[in-house]
Amino acid sequence: MRSCNCKECQDMCRFPCAINIREFKKFIEKHGRNSLMLCNDSYYDRIFMRIAIPGHEGGFSPTKVTEFDNKKPCIFFKDGLCMIYEDRPMDAKKAYHKATDEYTKYFYKLVEEWESEKGIKLINQWMRREI
Ligand code: SF4
Repeated sequence: MRSCNCKECQDMCRFPCAINIREFKKFIEKHGRNSLMLCNDSYYDRIFMRIAIPGHEGGFSPTKVTEFDNKKPCIFFKDGLCMIYEDRPMDAKKAYHKATDEYTKYFYKLVEEWESEKGIKLINQWMRREI
């Protein structure tokens, strides 16, 4: 199955998929710790993990949404398509074509989980390169 290459889906890949805490370890096992970045952008003013954009692998995301570079989308976005489509995070499945109300609920729940005790512990382990 190929990923969608409509403009809406392509635009979303400029702000790569968020990863939920249940996907986190499995995603790292498959794609490596540096496939992710810690997102602390000022637009959301929240902390959560996203797939990385080039230049931010294994580190922090840009601090402002406006600093995301349109020419540098998700590291798994190649020639207008998602290269890990079969294995894409739930975030991409929920936001197919557009961010619906259901997607928005999913996203804020995901962020709440990252800001829980369990989520912060995972982030600390990731930052210390223990996972
Ligand atoms: S994982 Fe795939 S769907 Fe998600 S942002 Fe990256 S390229 Fe897009």
